[in-house]
Amino acid sequence: MELTGEQASAFARANAELAASVASERVAAKREKIERMLGFDREAGEERLNRLLRHAVARVPFYRDGPSAFSDFPLVGKADLRDRFFDFLSRGPDGRMEPGTYFLNQTSGSTGEPVRILATVETGGMANAVILERINRHLGVEDGGITLNVGLLYERTPMFEPVALPSPTVKCNLRGFDPGSPGIVADYAATVGRFPVEKITGSSSRVIALARYCAERGITLRPKAIIATYEHMPDSGRALVEETFGRKVTMLYATSETGYSAWECSRGRLHFQDDLVRPEIVPDDGAGGGGIVLTHLLSTPMPIIRYVTGDRAAAPVPCDCGLPGTAIEQLLGRARTSLVGAGHELYSPFALMAALVAAGLPDYQIVQEAPGLLDLIVPPSWSGADETVRDINARLALSFRPREGFRLRARPSGAFVLTESGKRNPVVQLLDLPSVPERTGYLKS
Ligand SMILES: [Zn+2]
Repeated sequence: MELTGEQASAFARANAELAASVASERVAAKREKIERMLGFDREAGEERLNRLLRHAVARVPFYRDGPSAFSDFPLVGKADLRDRFFDFLSRGPDGRMEPGTYFLNQTSGSTGEPVRILATVETGGMANAVILERINRHLGVEDGGITLNVGLLYERTPMFEPVALPSPTVKCNLRGFDPGSPGIVADYAATVGRFPVEKITGSSSRVIALARYCAERGITLRPKAIIATYEHMPDSGRALVEETFGRKVTMLYATSETGYSAWECSRGRLHFQDDLVRPEIVPDDGAGGGGIVLTHLLSTPMPIIRYVTGDRAAAPVPCDCGLPGTAIEQLLGRARTSLVGAGHELYSPFALMAALVAAGLPDYQIVQEAPGLLDLIVPPSWSGADETVRDINARLALSFRPREGFRLRARPSGAFVLTESGKRNPVVQLLDLPSVPERTGYLKS
């Protein structure tokens, strides 16, 4: 099968644009720069760290006349970045911002409070490009292949999008599969299975939905890489993806504030890219392990030093897979998406998310406004919400003690809750979280 009609001409256009872009001097120069930073270089990382710290103390009001040793720098949280935004900006000797091409990256936590990060193309963009290209090389992704992307899309993202950096690819951007949406069904029918795919990218739940789509229709895709971001992937979903596409899933760990930071090796551990984003696991009062604290080594316009991500992990472990970088076992949880029980106890959302994916939900969002009660939002075209809620509530009731735990409620005619930047998080937590350890394992997927 091949692309036909509108899709065929859009694809041809994207290929022509990609060729022109790759041939340009600007892209060639950037590619060269990325190429030079591809090797993991601990020594260069040390130099970057020292340069960043010196720069911060000399040029950034928040750190002025501050400490010189890295371990003496204060831990910085989302609230610090939000409330003291201007104090984090780097200034020249005359007190003005230094010349450069800046971009403002506005992100948001699940509580909807915006955090803005100022970066330049030379810094923030470069670290992401280098890390992405390291993954491409590690997994054997070849230049020029097609990327099937079911990740976050913006309003006007075209279906076929030429992307020249870090390595040339035409992205085929699809929304999460939803059998109740005729537009999405038509897009999938016109594209999926009609061309070979070099790489699949997207959020975990959408990659699982794509695998289910292909498995049910006998569509064979054989990508070199499957890169899933953001959410935890339940074991059952991962098995479906890996069986359907004949390839292991690679989880990419990223935060809004520090960009790409680590990826998963063949042994299932996350390896940080220490020479670009320096990790620390700082013990906290949770049950074992500690908080993941990151320093973005190229973040000079707005230094992100010892940033408390809200994610948790056990202490680093040795890994003999051959990849460099600090390695950790999987995340212990993303603290800011915890669920609050009726007795103000705290639960990891992952078991519930796994159960929702297993129930075949095309897309969903969980919103919590009151302890012990979760609102489930699904696309309006999907009719199975009530049944799913009934089934999951029955299973939840079996595992919670009296006056503890939570139950689901299908939010009638609910619209998905977006952050200011238009991002849709799978869990929107509107409550303050009690400082108690997170519980897991309340549902088996
Ligand atoms: Zn490893």
